[in-house]
Amino acid sequence: MALRLYNTMSSQVEDFQTIRDKEVRMYACGPTVYDYGHIGNFRTFLAVDMLQRFLRQSGYSVRYVMNITDVDDKIIRNAARDGVSVQQYTAKYEKAFLEDSAMIGIQQPTLVRATDHIPQMADFVARLVEKDIAYRTDDGSYYFRIAKFPAYGKLSKKDFGGMIDSARVEFDEYDKDSARDFALWKAPKPGEAFWSTSIGAGRPGWHLECSVMSMEELGETFDLHAGGEDLVFPHHENEIAQSESLTGKMFARFWFHVRFLLVEGEKMSKSLGNFFTLRDLVLKGHKPSSIRYLLTSVPYRNQLNFTFDGLKQAAVSVDRLRNFRQRLNCGNFSPGSNPEMQSLATETTDRMKAALEDDLNTAQAQAAIFEMVRRANAALDSNAVQKEDIPSLLAALEKFDDIFAVLNDDDAAKMKQVFEWAPTEGRDKDIGAELRDAVQFAQLSGADIENKIAEMEAARRSRNFKSSDALRTELTTAGIIIENTKDGVRWRRK
Ligand code: AMP
Ligand code: ZN
Repeated sequence: MALRLYNTMSSQVEDFQTIRDKEVRMYACGPTVYDYGHIGNFRTFLAVDMLQRFLRQSGYSVRYVMNITDVDDKIIRNAARDGVSVQQYTAKYEKAFLEDSAMIGIQQPTLVRATDHIPQMADFVARLVEKDIAYRTDDGSYYFRIAKFPAYGKLSKKDFGGMIDSARVEFDEYDKDSARDFALWKAPKPGEAFWSTSIGAGRPGWHLECSVMSMEELGETFDLHAGGEDLVFPHHENEIAQSESLTGKMFARFWFHVRFLLVEGEKMSKSLGNFFTLRDLVLKGHKPSSIRYLLTSVPYRNQLNFTFDGLKQAAVSVDRLRNFRQRLNCGNFSPGSNPEMQSLATETTDRMKAALEDDLNTAQAQAAIFEMVRRANAALDSNAVQKEDIPSLLAALEKFDDIFAVLNDDDAAKMKQVFEWAPTEGRDKDIGAELRDAVQFAQLSGADIENKIAEMEAARRSRNFKSSDALRTELTTAGIIIENTKDGVRWRRK
């Protein structure tokens, strides 16, 4: 078996084949940095992160590029409203995006900024004008002549037969059922930021940004282009039109689109009060690992309904995996190996691979690892696990974690960071000191716990029972279960 992926262009699950042997060149539309990223954005970014991790695990070298849209209609408007430059306005949100991505375990792609590519964008427009595919309007804006690209609509499967007209649409985002000439380059309006270029003053349209940067970084034809499902039309349709009419070549082979996330069954929106940034959730005391786990637990083409119950469940699942690893790492086992455990580890690895190869079925991969944990825990209870089984079981767990990335017990440190950022970011979401203490306390890291246990043991040995009891109470209040075994003290989370 090899990877099979759904391709929006063909509307089918296809064998994933690359242009160059064992090398993947892929591009994802990144954030528009005009606000903090919300959990819907991160569902999409995480799905692409899982994909690139799995491609690497499968032996591909991956060149993964993501853009940062740091100029568009909204940014220009907000910067003008706040009386700051575009750069000043976006810097804060770009930084927050990088911090949030790291917090949630996203391996950083090669990032490219729109405002660093303005001359290339002007040049791209000039080349389209030369081919009579783009034209200039009286105000100095440039538009793409849609009638010149008969395949327009091939990605979104919209049939524009007879509806193609030369009316123009100026905005970056628009809902439409007919094809209109769209803006490639916008002349400045009074008071708006602009760049002086070879084609005149102005700023690029959003669609143009992605065509120019993806082809510059990855070549005229590359393997895969990703984004949320809302980008199929018009954004990706327009990228295809611009790029293919200029080069005469196929732009991207695979189109990977992630289904929108719902919150408690409804579309996320500020007016419904169900709109959450990643930071909102952390400030409510939720661990980054639970959020990552939940957002990656539903295959990317299925609807993910985000609920707070689901988030609690995710935390339990992550703890179960961490406790299992802890049990393997800390136990004392008799020499030898149990063939049943050996085949359990191999089967689990195979099942996870097969699940992910099946259009990235993350739910099935999780089911496989939990089946292993359940069976191995039962074997541990009856002393049926032997020394040589440990590396095999741990290896299966590591394979899982290469993709899911939740085993590392670093939530406490990450949450402390968010608490420190929150006030300086001017957020109004400051949490009470009491909750802050409670959260930090409950988030003791593995190393914190082990230090406290060592302290507790030292106090006990020097017969300072008051102090050792106090430490034990502190740990149990924080949800840590401590067991005295013949091999010493063992701990796990409740
Ligand atoms: P934006 O910053 O709005 O340009 O969006 C960045 C990425 O997040 C794009 O790929 C969007 O398609 C995606 N996105 C936006 N909202 C959601 C949502 N509710 N669920 C999943 N993906 C989303
Ligand atoms: Zn894009």
